[in-house]
Amino acid sequence: MEEQPISHGIIALDELPEIHRHLDAEQAERYLMGNSPAGEVANLEEHLLICADCRVELSNADIYVSSMSEVAARFRKRTARLMAAVAAGLLVAGILALR
Ligand SMILES: [Zn+2]
Repeated sequence: MEEQPISHGIIALDELPEIHRHLDAEQAERYLMGNSPAGEVANLEEHLLICADCRVELSNADIYVSSMSEVAARFRKRTARLMAAVAAGLLVAGILALR
């Protein structure tokens, strides 16, 4: 009798249709940033419809991304003020040095 390969009832990840795969971190980030290729968006959104886990993951990541961009915006504003102060300081120092 021919030996049968042992089946564990597990399908290799590569064999799963795209919509049954969980989002990986890169896909989630691209999606949140609006950088996903059009073909990927359709698959991701179809998967999100059927997968509560990924919806939770994505909403957590969304909160993270938006809080990060707030931090980044505050940081840019502060940096701009700092650069303006440094430039003003250099200007004053330059004027004083010319005297
Ligand atoms: Zn999922």
